Amino acid sequence: MEQLVDVIIIGGGPAGLNAALILGRSRKNVLVIDEELPRNRVTKESHGFLTRDGVTPAQFRQIAREQISVYPSVQFVKDTVISASGSDGNFEIVTAQGQTYTGKKILFAVGMKDRPLTISGLQEVYGKSAFVCPYCDGWELRDQTLALIVNSTTALHLAKTISGWSDQFTIFMQGAEELTIEEQAELAQHQIPIIYSPIQHIHSVEGMVQKIECEDGTLIACTGIFFTPELIAGSDVPRMLGCESADTGMMIVDEFGKTIIPGVYSAGDSASRKYQVVAAASLGSMAGVSINSELLEEAWQSKANLSLK
Ligand SMILES: Cc1cc2nc3c(=O)[nH]c(=O)nc-3n(C[C@H](O)[C@H](O)[C@H](O)COP(=O)(O)OP(=O)(O)OC[C@H]3O[C@@H](n4cnc5c(N)ncnc54)[C@H](O)[C@@H]3O)c2cc1C
Repeated sequence: MEQLVDVIIIGGGPAGLNAALILGRSRKNVLVIDEELPRNRVTKESHGFLTRDGVTPAQFRQIAREQISVYPSVQFVKDTVISASGSDGNFEIVTAQGQTYTGKKILFAVGMKDRPLTISGLQEVYGKSAFVCPYCDGWELRDQTLALIVNSTTALHLAKTISGWSDQFTIFMQGAEELTIEEQAELAQHQIPIIYSPIQHIHSVEGMVQKIECEDGTLIACTGIFFTPELIAGSDVPRMLGCESADTGMMIVDEFGKTIIPGVYSAGDSASRKYQVVAAASLGSMAGVSINSELLEEAWQSKANLSLK
């Protein structure tokens, strides 16, 4: 059993790393446990974070870790957390490699995970010419001939959004639910083709999409794809402690990342739908501040109690 640290951070993406930076600078003993499987690992470049536009996700983490290494009270372990127990002030974490760690507070910065992609050929192009967020990758696909692989909930919204980057795109409807008459009329007004036949296969060369083949034989050439991903919670471990989550898998927290379980926090994609590196880092920072405040308050009170004895 390792020594009791102030904070165990589970997940070393932008949220967990920014929390570690704040807590390290606050002189707290921190252990970051990270299995190093972030959602954006499929992509070559990460965009939209000031001073880091265009770096690889791995470079982003490497720079962050180098900067955090200045603060000696932060330690990193590569491992997967498989269970958690205990309560505020004394949580116990067990990992896949059989290690046990104890911490006063816990921050889950575990992100979200993509459900396995079921469309044939989509995995091969994901992160190379198929993306999920136009703010992250729309610029690189501007003015190209695109395919939007969507469902009834996301079709109109994504069409409107993508129109800011390209006016040449085809909608590929997937799933049983249909668009409403009004939605169909709105898309028709903008002369956006809609294909209802399910996708049979996405043809690509070295990750670059060439054409999409549908079950009814339709073949549409395109050079880029945006699609609606299906997400699940990054980890089941928060539930073992009684944390609440929405149907989407997103953990329920207050504005500082506090869950309903005392001493347990969550930040980043696991606790918000902002899904951007800069947002995840910001939420991690806020959670770090909140955790530090709680630890300071506890230390302050316990010193006062001792002096009364
Ligand atoms: C294809 C793609 C491209 C993207 N491009 C951009 C972009 O260009 N710009 C942008 O701003 N955003 C982009 N995003 C979104 C961005 O990646 C996320 O918003 C951001 O990474 C969220 O940070 P996070 O720290 O919350 O989670 P993550 O970065 O996902 O990190 C979570 C970490 O927790 C670890 N973890 C999970 N469970 C456990 C466990 N039980 N034990 C130990 N470790 C665990 C994971 O392995 C992972 O390392 C992209 C997303 C995708 C899918």
